[in-house]
Amino acid sequence: MSDVRDVIIIGGGPAGYTAALYTARANLRPLVIEGFNWGGQLMITSDVENYPGYPDGELGPTMMQDFRRQAERFGAEFVTDDVTRVDFSERPFKVWVDKDEYRAESVIVATGASARQLGLESEQRLQGRGVSYCATCDAAFFRDKIVTVVGGGDSALEEALFITRFASKVLLVHRRQEFRASPIMVDRAQQNDTIELVLDTVVEDVLGEDKVTGVRVRNVITGDITDLETDGFFVAIGHDPNTSLFLDWLDHEEETGYLVTEPRSTATNVPGVFAAGDVQDHTYRQAVTAAGSGCMAALDAERFLSAQRHEAGSAAQPA
Ligand code: NAP
Repeated sequence: MSDVRDVIIIGGGPAGYTAALYTARANLRPLVIEGFNWGGQLMITSDVENYPGYPDGELGPTMMQDFRRQAERFGAEFVTDDVTRVDFSERPFKVWVDKDEYRAESVIVATGASARQLGLESEQRLQGRGVSYCATCDAAFFRDKIVTVVGGGDSALEEALFITRFASKVLLVHRRQEFRASPIMVDRAQQNDTIELVLDTVVEDVLGEDKVTGVRVRNVITGDITDLETDGFFVAIGHDPNTSLFLDWLDHEEETGYLVTEPRSTATNVPGVFAAGDVQDHTYRQAVTAAGSGCMAALDAERFLSAQRHEAGSAAQPA
């Protein structure tokens, strides 16, 4: 293909669409390969009440449509499919969707992360109807209600502690006796009267037709099955960054797979390839921080491209 783009953005969540908006407004004609299931993690939340500028809250999927439409208004183009392969060995970089090859002088990777799911049919069905993967987003919907949190790492304990600001009771269900979380978090949870620890226990089912009404749990030592009344069910068993396509090319954390960017920048180890949003952030993981880093990546890509043009222009000058 002869058409070499200025920038290809891989991923259609808050980071990708914000990068698209900024690069489109900079006349860089971005192509967003947004994924078959575009929209990212906000597609499985209900109301988003913590995104500035939406004082009445907004449904996650509606907000993502708005993000997308805003980028489109300035000329961003979209391929609604999944990238299957990349080659970042030289510029122009190559990105494939099956047999279709796309080329660009710069690439912004914004493929996000996925919350790990338990894999229960009922968990899927009740997503946004009491099943949540983000306490910061959804805890306030459970004022004076009973909430169950599953997991035994720092995320689960942090979420459980956060939810105690709203809920009347928080059941923390963990599959072992020992916690993976840091001792200080375990101490805090143990000392909090609103939190009840339910250990050596796994969740077998989330109960409820249209909304969560309870969870069915099994004690792994005794085999006893119990139904616990609950209004909210928070799954906090970790996140996985969507980085499998990039591991051969981009520096990443060995253990977790998160991409590594330079401090105060979205630059990766490959000049011209930038990473934005949850794919390189396991600390903040908010739509607004992802959008912010999408903006940073767009500005970084713009500067990179103009430096390249400047260099090419200087090289073309007679000595
Ligand atoms: P994590 O440390 O990987 O912990 C995941 C937890 O979920 C583990 O307790 C694990 O149980 C449990 N789990 C995994 N799959 C499960 C399943 N299918 N069913 C039931 N339980 C399951 O993940 P994380 O808590 O999200 O933390 C990720 C990283 O971020 C960690 O390095 C953590 O320290 C860090 N973090 C730090 C803070 C903080 O410092 N404030 C806050 C959040 C996260 P097992 O223990 O039995 O494997």
